[in-house]
Amino acid sequence: GGTVSKNFIEQIIDKDIEEGRCEEVVTRFPPEPNGYLHIGHAKSILLNYGLAEEYHGKFHMRFDDTNPTKEKVEFVESIKADIQWLGADWGDSLFFASDYFEQMYEAAVKLIKKGKAYVSDLSAEEIREYRGTLTEPGKDDPSCNRSVEENLALFEDMKNGKFKDGEKVLRAKIDMASPNINMRDPVIYRVAHMTHHRTGDTWCIYPMYDFAHPIEDAIEGVSHSICTLEFEDHRPLYDWVVRELEYEKPPKQIEFAKLYLTNVVTGKRYIKKLVEDGIVDGWDDPRLVSIAALRRRGFTPESIKRFVELCGISKSNSSVDYAMLEYCIREDLKMKKPRMMAVLDPIKLVIDNYPEGEVEYLDVANNLENEELGSRKVPFCRELYIDRDDFMEEPPKKYFRLFPGNEVRLMHAYFVKCESFVKDENGKVIEVHCTYDPETKQGTGFTGRKVKGTIHWVPAPFAKKCEVRLYENLVDEEKGVYNKEDGSLNLNPDSLKVLKDCYVEPELAKAEPYDSFQFVRQGYFCADAKDSTPEHPVFNRIVSLKSSFKL
Ligand code: ATP
Ligand code: MG
Ligand code: MG
Repeated sequence: GGTVSKNFIEQIIDKDIEEGRCEEVVTRFPPEPNGYLHIGHAKSILLNYGLAEEYHGKFHMRFDDTNPTKEKVEFVESIKADIQWLGADWGDSLFFASDYFEQMYEAAVKLIKKGKAYVSDLSAEEIREYRGTLTEPGKDDPSCNRSVEENLALFEDMKNGKFKDGEKVLRAKIDMASPNINMRDPVIYRVAHMTHHRTGDTWCIYPMYDFAHPIEDAIEGVSHSICTLEFEDHRPLYDWVVRELEYEKPPKQIEFAKLYLTNVVTGKRYIKKLVEDGIVDGWDDPRLVSIAALRRRGFTPESIKRFVELCGISKSNSSVDYAMLEYCIREDLKMKKPRMMAVLDPIKLVIDNYPEGEVEYLDVANNLENEELGSRKVPFCRELYIDRDDFMEEPPKKYFRLFPGNEVRLMHAYFVKCESFVKDENGKVIEVHCTYDPETKQGTGFTGRKVKGTIHWVPAPFAKKCEVRLYENLVDEEKGVYNKEDGSLNLNPDSLKVLKDCYVEPELAKAEPYDSFQFVRQGYFCADAKDSTPEHPVFNRIVSLKSSFKL
């Protein structure tokens, strides 16, 4: 829509198109396959994909697999699944940076021939020392004046395995006095005798990120290479690489601020420990914010897209509240999902004047705000379950639900009046007895009298027993994410509550993994993809119905 103002990245792209620097917008998402993607990555994926769509360009999926130590095939597959689920379709543009190793090698040779790169004998430690600091310029590498021939021969020896790891590196020859330390003759190739998950043992030299990335972008014809803010002072090096390699259509790097969520754990190190310590049930535990975890919790691609849009694109780091993510999923599911009845903490309700053995099938609209979702039949009979907190022996003021002598509506059904109740030997209420008034059936237009409370229920002989998992923040919000003394996580001991004796409408026995529903008065719930079975359904609460978040 023309009325929405464009973000700063769109403004840069518009200008590049207008001034003839860009014919086709090509963006990419370049994850390192070294972990699961999280909500922050989703922002980058949807931003890049969205720009390609908006400008009728292309979106590339590229695995930045130039660092063989940390990469795993397992992650390649999970990353692909997550991106597909988000709806960022890369078509036939799936790439692996490792496919460009030969071209990267040739690019390095080109720099050597131009006198712009040299083989160094310094150790990693020495290189760090020679590079100086922010206040102190760097010192020349003793190898920086090697001849082109010597450098070519040494680089070939590096490639042919003549050196051990760390014995030699290739450095770009730029400026040891640059105020930007990244420009002080950065290492662009290193020796690493490692087996790569795709190229095996073909290579024992690997390019460094700052050298590899601009080459990957240039080879693929990426027009705008969008990355996060911490790469801002790497941009001069990015530009140096594409300039010295004389690409015809140099890609342009643009940085934006990372997405951070308040009071949420995203660090790989921490999540790894939570998994190892058994505090969470894998990387897709519904309390985490990996894309797999959000999917398992019951978030939809649409809700994540909405969230990312609401966050906006900016140049300054800030942190967004999880409540905004909850707002987005609530809004997304509101009209789309059937509203079912579920009793999480059951007590039996017996309608003493309802004929024993009789069953009637009530016609219930699936979503009163969306007729398209149709209706279902819910069996109604003499014995029901209701939620424990919908009955009180001695109610406080303004309690309009069941208590002795009070009448309420059973949702979609009849008025019932509480006549008596039964306690067990510990004084716990185990049964509530009511009478119903056949005149008051919902939908008959009965107006004889009104009740102030409506409660949900399930028919006891037909209800499906199930497990329900309620979640709270993994960390203690009062204390903040990290312990100030030892840096450990301030965990919330109540982040998971498992309710084992819940009852749902019979219809819900059919729920498939990832199916989601509103449980009236309780929130939105999703069938757990790992643990739910038709015999033993398990539902995760995605989000409750109430919110403190206001847009
Ligand atoms: P690591 O280097 O530890 O793997 P990373 O999360 O940055 O960390 P990458 O695989 O390099 O992992 O990320 C892929 C892309 O996702 C990069 O372009 C990066 O800028 C982007 N990205 C990562 N985290 C965020 C975030 N929190 N918000 C937005 N974009 C992000
Ligand atoms: Mg990563
Ligand atoms: Mg990274």
